[in-house]
Amino acid sequence: MKNFAYTRAETVAGAVALLSRQANSKFLGGGTNLVDLMRENIEHPDALIDVTELTSSGISEQANGSVLIGAAVRNSDVANHRLIRERYPVLSQAILFGASGQIRNMATTGGNLMQRTRCYYFYDEAAGCNKRNPGSGCDAIGGFNRMHAILGTSESCIATHPSDMCVALAALDAVVHVAGPEGERTIPFEEFHRLPGTTPHIETSLRPDELITSVELPALEFARNSRYRKVRDRASYAFALVSVAAALEVSGGKIAKVRLAMGGVSHKPWRARRAEDVLSGSPANVESFRAAAAVELSEARGFGHNDFKIELAQRVIVGVLSELAGLGEAQ
Ligand code: SF4
Repeated sequence: MKNFAYTRAETVAGAVALLSRQANSKFLGGGTNLVDLMRENIEHPDALIDVTELTSSGISEQANGSVLIGAAVRNSDVANHRLIRERYPVLSQAILFGASGQIRNMATTGGNLMQRTRCYYFYDEAAGCNKRNPGSGCDAIGGFNRMHAILGTSESCIATHPSDMCVALAALDAVVHVAGPEGERTIPFEEFHRLPGTTPHIETSLRPDELITSVELPALEFARNSRYRKVRDRASYAFALVSVAAALEVSGGKIAKVRLAMGGVSHKPWRARRAEDVLSGSPANVESFRAAAAVELSEARGFGHNDFKIELAQRVIVGVLSELAGLGEAQ
């Protein structure tokens, strides 16, 4: 690993100013991904600015009923917080399905949003990878791509986003609060991560000089009835092949409200808007769930080793919605 300077910022404004002043510098949260990437020579910043003290203002309920999570709050603390467990169980479950206890104790909320793909070729300096080295090709297309994306892919990149937490945040319509040299702004969660297009190395809509300060969960009463299900190759410490985050409200046998997002299928947490449209107002039964899942996956494309995800994703959607509707474990 190359030598780097370490600074602990004292204010948000100071952190942003430091980043602007120091060329090739990065903010440091828990370091659970960034430091790995530095060891692997994928990231090589000259300076790290530790922001864990300034955005750690905890988890608090706002006057409008929303819940604000400081960017430096550790993943374990989010998952185990009473407000999150009661009001947004899908978020608590998603976090607890990710990584290991030790990593969750270190990883921060903001850092979770910024983690990078675990595509094997991205980590292999000998491989062609447009994300690591723009213009060098993509060895995953035509290579071993069992973990790769089936939705929103491009000819440049078929990587998936690795986070579980972010899938729940996408379903919950979270809002990302950021601060930069020009002040503060908010980014709707669905717009935070990008599809690869021709620039897979640009992964978020965060500007290079901006810092995530908090994530806001809007008041969403029916999210008390929410679930996260993750399908993976082993029972723990594995990334999702497919995951589904959902919240459901049924009234008079019909779907009154629904939120649905998927992980392990795209370059970003995939909000299943088309399925939600099909589901809204439909009878809360397995036929509706299957129809919605089929519509959502109708434009999915496999690349050989990951073709199975197209069927798997539909089955997981049907399974989770059936459980939330009180219909048992239908698939
Ligand atoms: Fe690189 Fe994306 Fe291709 Fe993986 S899928 S090798 S990250 S360009």
